[in-house]
Amino acid sequence: MVTFLLIISSVNSFSWGFYAHKRINYYAVFLLPPPLFLFYKSHIIYLSDHSVDPDKRRYAIKEEAPRHFIDMDKYGKYPFDSLPRKWNEAKMKFSEDSLQAHGIIPWWIQTMLYRLTQAFLKKDCYRSLQLSAEIAHYIADAHVPLHTSSNHNGQFTAQHGIHGFWESRVPELLAEPGWDFIIPKAKYIEDPLAYTWRKIMESALAADSVLVFEKNLNDRFRTDRKYAFESRNGVIVRQYSRDYTIAYDKILNNMVERRMRESIYSVASFWYTAWVNAGQPDLSVCIDTPFHLDKSIDTTNNLPSEDHH
Ligand SMILES: [Zn+2]
Repeated sequence: MVTFLLIISSVNSFSWGFYAHKRINYYAVFLLPPPLFLFYKSHIIYLSDHSVDPDKRRYAIKEEAPRHFIDMDKYGKYPFDSLPRKWNEAKMKFSEDSLQAHGIIPWWIQTMLYRLTQAFLKKDCYRSLQLSAEIAHYIADAHVPLHTSSNHNGQFTAQHGIHGFWESRVPELLAEPGWDFIIPKAKYIEDPLAYTWRKIMESALAADSVLVFEKNLNDRFRTDRKYAFESRNGVIVRQYSRDYTIAYDKILNNMVERRMRESIYSVASFWYTAWVNAGQPDLSVCIDTPFHLDKSIDTTNNLPSEDHH
């Protein structure tokens, strides 16, 4: 007997779905210059598989969730000038509790960059790899418009499920056949905090379109055409239909593809930047090193601190 579930299927509704995160880490490897490429390429399966570790931790560690988003609309209107871009200034103005409540992704990326740079400096093969897989997750999340809006799953506008629709359903259905993943090579990022904020602002600007366009489309589709039932591992789930997904992607003018491409480019550029800032260490000893993959990462909530902000 098959179980019948009336749910919008989405593995998680917090970030690029598992599919997209894995592809982002995978493709990013190919944008790296030769010495770094050899190291990453030899561990490409690890990097791809562990791209979703931060999401898996969300239920176990309470500090984890705020690292994946920032509700920019809590800080007024675009360009949200009331929120200082630097952690210490923002903390001074709003208190840490309040920043945590609305999400800390732009600053958390800087903490991860600092940790990755330190791991490269020490030539710690395993930790470099682990942190690479994980910083990529947060960078990719920062490219998702609904990660910058408090209406992140359409819960305030009767659009429940839109989060997984944009970041899981659209790429899962449409990426393989036609999306272009030929992307420029990684570039050194002079000012990582400013770069991160540019990405957050782009996401925040796009969040309205993500919501409004779906609402308009919904008005044009009958419910029985909007949804379809699909079998997933013996479970029947209600899912956004193929027609509806294609129509949404079209009115978004390939936004999902564009943000996925930009995520890949940003991930590779952050990896490259950490390595350059660490003095371009020779990592040849790390190639083909078998790792103990069960080693757990440092999950302490070391917040962005003075020394690297
Ligand atoms: Zn996430």
